[in-house]
Amino acid sequence: LSHDEELTQLHEARSYVLARVNRMPTVDVSLDDAHSLVAAAHVTAREDVPSFANSAMDGYAVRSEDTIGAPVDLVVVDFLPAGGSTTRQVKPGEAIRIMTGGPIPAGADAVVMVERTHTVGNVVAVEIPVSPRTSIREAGEDVRVGDVILTSGTVISPTLLGVLSSIGVTQITAYRKPRVGVLSTGNELVSTSWPVGTLGAGQIRNSNGLTLRALLHEAGFKAIDLGIVNDQEIALASAIRGAAEMCDAIITTGGVSVGDLDFVGRVLADLGESRSMRLAIKPAKPFAFAVVNDVPVFGLPGNPVAAVVAFELLARPALMRMAGHRNLDRPTVYGVASEKIKRHRDGKTHYVRVVATQNETGEWLVRSSGGQGAHHLRSMANSNALAVVVDGDGIDMGERVETILLNFLNPNDRPQSFEHPREWRDTSVLDPKAS
Ligand code: AMP
Ligand code: MG
Repeated sequence: LSHDEELTQLHEARSYVLARVNRMPTVDVSLDDAHSLVAAAHVTAREDVPSFANSAMDGYAVRSEDTIGAPVDLVVVDFLPAGGSTTRQVKPGEAIRIMTGGPIPAGADAVVMVERTHTVGNVVAVEIPVSPRTSIREAGEDVRVGDVILTSGTVISPTLLGVLSSIGVTQITAYRKPRVGVLSTGNELVSTSWPVGTLGAGQIRNSNGLTLRALLHEAGFKAIDLGIVNDQEIALASAIRGAAEMCDAIITTGGVSVGDLDFVGRVLADLGESRSMRLAIKPAKPFAFAVVNDVPVFGLPGNPVAAVVAFELLARPALMRMAGHRNLDRPTVYGVASEKIKRHRDGKTHYVRVVATQNETGEWLVRSSGGQGAHHLRSMANSNALAVVVDGDGIDMGERVETILLNFLNPNDRPQSFEHPREWRDTSVLDPKAS
């Protein structure tokens, strides 16, 4: 095998990019707007939850020692629903009827659930003995004053919002969401916005724009549609310079390869510190990165699948870092190939679109989702994971393969497309020379 070009390993490209992106400035946001943001400061509880001992059951607050030798009869002296209060104390031989969430009255040290009682008038027959603290939710059992509730880098989940609101927190300090511009480059591109035109000779629709903006949204970033720009150096430079004024990061697609009209790499070199690379991966070999006025620019390849793979492997982790995440990557599992994944030796790691499903024992099974050409976007949409097939002769059936889960969709939520035979023929495998 001869390689007439120098390939950059993915991990090197990744380190290069990650070293050149900074965390976003922080903002104080109301809990109402905090969902899915990344905390930029820790939060310590200043209240106990629950703040008072209360009943875990509907039943009777009793003195546990009174129930020794049950069944016993006790006199019901008061009623305590959730939100209620009383000055009555439970004295020997007494009980207070109490509902879930009702405050444990003085004197009582246990609750007997209503299912274990019989009530006639103001007398309750307790059928079983209860030990001290039975069915009592103690103050501070869930959260104690001084507990660290979250640290910088924690993602604010719906239930974490519940915890924060339960301790009286009203706002948190979080990293501002990155605003990420998406610029599609290419003379051949036609807008996908309404009104959608018919395609002229040689034209194609700008499918990358929508795909990338949705990927950005899905990751929790703000996406800005920067439209289409022609393969023309001055136009490209002014579009990128303009975008750097209003975005925290920019993603371009197309024009980073070695074609006669591939100007993005050159334009980025003129605009700031930049690097154009040939990555040792497939798809997504060409990739460029620059910092223009402190704004990172990710020059992704134009082929739709290559753009998605380069986004996943390089842009997304960097943007996750900007957004303050500790965890930059999608989850990875070891899958077992349920059929052979063919490939030829070419010095590159292949990212193969696969369907990953879990069997009854929790094991991940992976199989190709269809054609693996960089332009076969449908097989990307039909996949939910990328199998990382290192250089070599492929993965045999039953062999393990590292697999990146792209989302947590139930695999059955993917398009259940009918399987056209053509879709399943990977020409790059049949003909090693085809790209
Ligand atoms: P390039 O990286 O500019 O050489 O483009 C590689 C291939 O991707 C070509 O077939 C382009 O027509 C196609 N392509 C480029 N940009 C887009 C886009 N925004 N949406 C869909 N396909 C594209
Ligand atoms: Mg192009």
